[in-house]
Amino acid sequence: MNAKIRLLLLEDSEADAEIIQRKLAKAGVEFEPLRVETQAGFLAALSDFQPDLILADYSLPQFTALEALRILKEQRIDVPLILVTGSHSEEVAVECIKEGADDYILKDSLKRLPSALLSSLKKSQAERRRAVTETAFRRSEALFRLIAENTSDLVALLDLDLHFNYASPSHHPVLGYAPEEITATSRAVPFHPEEETLLRETIKSALTSRDSKRCEVRLRHKNGQWLFFESVIGGIFDHGNSEQVLVVSRDISERKRAEQENRKLAAFAQFNPNPVLEFAADGDLGYFNGAALEMAKSLQHDHPQAILPQDTAAIVRMCLATGENRLHLQTVMKGRTFSWSFFPILRSQMVHCYAEDITESLNMETQLRQAQKMDSVGQLAAGVAHDFNNILTIIQGHAGLMLSGEEIESTLADSARQISLAADRAASLTRQLLMFSRKQVMQPRLVDLNEIIVNVSTMLRSLVGEQVSLRRNTSANLPPIHADPGMVEQVLVNLVVNARDAMPKGGALLIDTFAMEIDEDYVHHHPQAHKGYFVGLSVSDTGSGMEVATLDRIFEPFFTTKEIGKGTGLGLATVYGIVKQHQGWIEVESGLGRGTTFKIFVPASSKARAGPNGNKPQEAPGGKETILVVEDEGALRELVEEVLRKKGYTVLKAATGAQALKVWQHHKDQIDLLLTDMMMPEGVSGRELAEKILAEKPDLKVIYSSGYSLDIVSPGFNLTEGSNYLQKPYHPETLARAVRNRLDS
Ligand code: ADP
Ligand code: MG
Repeated sequence: MNAKIRLLLLEDSEADAEIIQRKLAKAGVEFEPLRVETQAGFLAALSDFQPDLILADYSLPQFTALEALRILKEQRIDVPLILVTGSHSEEVAVECIKEGADDYILKDSLKRLPSALLSSLKKSQAERRRAVTETAFRRSEALFRLIAENTSDLVALLDLDLHFNYASPSHHPVLGYAPEEITATSRAVPFHPEEETLLRETIKSALTSRDSKRCEVRLRHKNGQWLFFESVIGGIFDHGNSEQVLVVSRDISERKRAEQENRKLAAFAQFNPNPVLEFAADGDLGYFNGAALEMAKSLQHDHPQAILPQDTAAIVRMCLATGENRLHLQTVMKGRTFSWSFFPILRSQMVHCYAEDITESLNMETQLRQAQKMDSVGQLAAGVAHDFNNILTIIQGHAGLMLSGEEIESTLADSARQISLAADRAASLTRQLLMFSRKQVMQPRLVDLNEIIVNVSTMLRSLVGEQVSLRRNTSANLPPIHADPGMVEQVLVNLVVNARDAMPKGGALLIDTFAMEIDEDYVHHHPQAHKGYFVGLSVSDTGSGMEVATLDRIFEPFFTTKEIGKGTGLGLATVYGIVKQHQGWIEVESGLGRGTTFKIFVPASSKARAGPNGNKPQEAPGGKETILVVEDEGALRELVEEVLRKKGYTVLKAATGAQALKVWQHHKDQIDLLLTDMMMPEGVSGRELAEKILAEKPDLKVIYSSGYSLDIVSPGFNLTEGSNYLQKPYHPETLARAVRNRLDS
């Protein structure tokens, strides 16, 4: 014992106290004494002196050892008291021991005092230590219970075989099991089989490291549902060994669900085939998906930052300030057009942005609009040309009649010739207009495109002149096409003339032919194209080329950039109409200063080609037959009558189908030929009229005439120009020839 023993002497005899102290000092006990002899002194010493040990005489004048023992007991003061008395009474000894005295020593045998004192002290100290530990233990156990029984986390003690030694009450609301159920049966609460190894390893690691470890495990609710927990595991050590672990688990199912939900939502952006980006409030690009990166890479940039609209930061700030979306902002980069839409997310002060490459859809839109425009212009042109044809036929006819009169004055004859020439020119214009509007009569047959090119190549060469080199690169084994050779020639001539005009200082002109399978992908990029096998004609020049504004309009009738008198603006309109009529389409590539390539596609025919049909009309003599002429345009009717009369025929006239039927009823035996306009007002069309009459007289000869294409007026009707069909406007001679041919057929 290091410190001095604080020794309280309860002794009325000064001398006895001296003896005791001397005895102790002699035995080498170091102490600090205090002597009291009254209850008051004793009480004061207890609180002020705080003795380690009390030596008490049995009876004092005003106080007794028994009373002192009682005070100690009452005040729960744990200081050993040894009775030192002169009395030899057994009773006294027993009574004092009963009251809590530690030992009993007679004053006349003080020899035993030092050893008794030391053992008593030792005993009391051991006891005090035990009491302290016990209190601490009780306190910590109480604390554990307090926490375990009140927390919503799962608190459990598991043995190393994962059996529950203790389960907190919270197991009941969380897992549906009462704690007793869990501890009673081994493995009442199953861990997910996939995580049992993980759990055992975490326990092992917590035990070896003597530190708590975490892991995520799943436990099954009584209803069968698996719940996610985050568990903290710590070893409980007893004399250095551990038989069990404390596991505190927190239900994180909600968090897991949220995580899964987040992952799912993130996938929408991540795997979106369109670029998705997110901007922070200051305009910083915080997130972009793979598609955004791809888009940047397709423009030779490593990062989407490089392709953002210039004022992105300002747009982001504006969106957040106003809470309004900014939609369809267009940017152009490397010839591609992108559309950007910004959506503010006020809650998180972010702006989401979706981008799209709209180059293709813009192109398609333009092409579609172009096609629609051409169609409506075509309808307009056809309407005008149709009326014109009737008028021109009259002008031409009368000029012809004047010229055929023998006694005509020479100046008058000259004028008549001029009128006839002008009418011819006007007729060729309306013919072109009708070609454009696809209402020109087409006389298709199987032809070889290469052959047509060869046939006209001499003419083309003289057209382009010496300054332009003309090369042909025609593909061998080209399949035949179902086409009107005259129209194809017209297309070639028009394209070549344009090419020549684009190269006033000379250049090169290349005419190609090719065959090509058009697939879905091609159609996707060229909306005017169709699927199938096609024959192509390409005419390229090294001329001036065109800017976009010009390109947009070249197929419009009367659109020309050439000086007055040089261009009619009908060349390409005609080409357009002809190609459409042949179920084909045109593609143009051009740029200012880059030359121009026109490509024309028409369907390849699966049929083999027949020999060229060369029925050249011959000079037509007149005749004596009777002809019924049905025409609603009065002047034209008169003209036809006059022309035919002059040729010797007898002419009967009707202005409508109904009238014609009446005439027929009266003269059916005389009539040899019916010449009828196809389109007539008042119900009965030319075709219906002919059908009715033919029903009565099947071998009657019929000639139809119209300013429209056959597939417009009468699709699927078997007509051949010059034989049973006359295209308006027509020359008097052509009319006479057709009539003679028909009568003789
Ligand atoms: P025109 O030749 O009478 O002007 P077109 O319809 O043939 O009428 O052509 C319309 C316009 O298209 C031309 O005026 C010209 O501006 C343009 N064009 C046509 N072909 C070419 C070409 N090969 N190179 C450059 N410009 C062309
Ligand atoms: Mg032209």
